[in-house]
Amino acid sequence: MKTDFIVVGSGIAGLNFAIEASRHGKVVLMTKKDLMESNTNYAQGGIASVLDKFDSFESHVEDTMRAGCFHNDRAAVEFLVREGPKMISKLLDLGTPFEQKSGVLKLTKEGGHHHHRVVYAGDATGHVIEKTLIKHIKSSPNITIYENALAFDLIVRDDRCLGVKYLLGNDVKAVFSKAVILATGGVGMVYRKTTNPNIATGDGLAMAYRAGAAVEDLEFMQFHPTALNKHGAPPFLISEAVRGEGGVLKNSNNERFMPRYHEMEELAPRDVVARAIAKEAESGEVTLDITHKDPELLKIRFPTIYKKLLEYGIDITRQPIPVLPAAHYMCGGVKVNLSGETNIRNLFAFGEVARTGVHGANRLASNSLLESIVFSQQVVEAVKRLEQEIEVIDFSLPKLVEGNFDEVKAGIRETMWTNVGLIRNASGLSTAIGQLKKIEEALPMGISYELAAVRNLALAGRLIAEAALARKKSLGCHWRDDEN
Ligand SMILES: Cc1cc2nc3c(=O)[nH]c(=O)nc-3n(C[C@H](O)[C@H](O)[C@H](O)COP(=O)(O)OP(=O)(O)OC[C@H]3O[C@@H](n4cnc5c(N)ncnc54)[C@H](O)[C@@H]3O)c2cc1C
Repeated sequence: MKTDFIVVGSGIAGLNFAIEASRHGKVVLMTKKDLMESNTNYAQGGIASVLDKFDSFESHVEDTMRAGCFHNDRAAVEFLVREGPKMISKLLDLGTPFEQKSGVLKLTKEGGHHHHRVVYAGDATGHVIEKTLIKHIKSSPNITIYENALAFDLIVRDDRCLGVKYLLGNDVKAVFSKAVILATGGVGMVYRKTTNPNIATGDGLAMAYRAGAAVEDLEFMQFHPTALNKHGAPPFLISEAVRGEGGVLKNSNNERFMPRYHEMEELAPRDVVARAIAKEAESGEVTLDITHKDPELLKIRFPTIYKKLLEYGIDITRQPIPVLPAAHYMCGGVKVNLSGETNIRNLFAFGEVARTGVHGANRLASNSLLESIVFSQQVVEAVKRLEQEIEVIDFSLPKLVEGNFDEVKAGIRETMWTNVGLIRNASGLSTAIGQLKKIEEALPMGISYELAAVRNLALAGRLIAEAALARKKSLGCHWRDDEN
């Protein structure tokens, strides 16, 4: 089969690309579950952009650079920030119901930001964006949607990407195109504790690496400071906006401890808050307390968090929330330029799978939805100029295999959590690399949904551990306790 553009992934990045690219050709949009399932769908806090008259592009750039420990590419950051307001207008034009008062967008503040600049929709910002974009996707005659279709390898010849191999039910197939676009999101599932949904298995990263694409900054896995820490409950994310609206962190002595760690207190950059929580948790439970705020306002501002935590027996209007850090966001990824181009011709990447240089060593809160939409727009500009014919070549497809890989997957996630987590050292990292290599070597040939996930998790985990071992000094969300 042939099409003009293949985009893998139906988060904000893939959906926005498909809508825009469908004006220039036929698009196949492939996604491994249903269209909604993505990290985007769970994003609570919002999208950062300079919209307030007292704010400035310079301030957003500086906040982003400071959070990223100046390891960011300034040109990419400046581009991101300048494009921000246009992208918010675009999302509004498409019908995204961001919160407004008298026709003016409401703005909240999150960690690391010196201004109110986060546009939001309650605490379900990502969900409303997904719903809005999917409505447009479904009405476009130029977009063919493959749900439950798992892309598992790229077809590359002479450093040019020609197509994608994928699994749909029990059928192993391939599709060829002028350009292949990876918008496959993150890799949080490589850790035992993560805020990410099951789809986040690093498939795009692993596929691109196997095909010869350059990857970078993988040691910078961001751990979100405040995931729910309750026995029997998942590490459900408690949005940074809860701290933005006045929530305070307390240790087991009921002491508010963040002022001891950073001048921005609870709204310090995420790596600082995550490590402070981990340190305080050594002596007992750490909680996030917002009970001093008006209960009715809390229910309106955080309806998803309020309802979800009630299911786990916590009423946030009356009880502090037990929290601990959990793996959240991959700052690095497949190396791309400002047009989303990788080092393989006609292979593009954007969104969480890509390393654009925007985040540096640590992502500033609410910059990732923005990055995904800004750079997906850029890739449309690049692919619409492609003139070559679609080239179809002979190819081989692997056989379907059966088998349950749950135990192997659990082993990978445990190894990563123990040895490649919030705080690292050479001994733990070397152990993880050795164990992951052994797992990779022992996996069978062939393909299945489960096998692809385990294969990609093992490879992505090893690449993260190798990058972390190579960077001997702590920087941003990469922290070594053996750096001397
Ligand atoms: C709980 C949570 C809260 C967050 N809150 C915020 C926030 O408030 N603000 C912010 O800016 N960011 C937030 N983030 C981060 C942000 O949501 C993500 O970085 C962003 O949504 C990534 O978008 P994406 O389109 O690149 O990837 P995703 O939205 O993850 O989409 C990836 C897509 O690729 C598909 N896919 C993956 N592999 C394959 C494959 N092999 N074959 C076919 N399809 C595949 C997936 O099924 C999915 O559809 C949050 C993340 C989480 C998990």
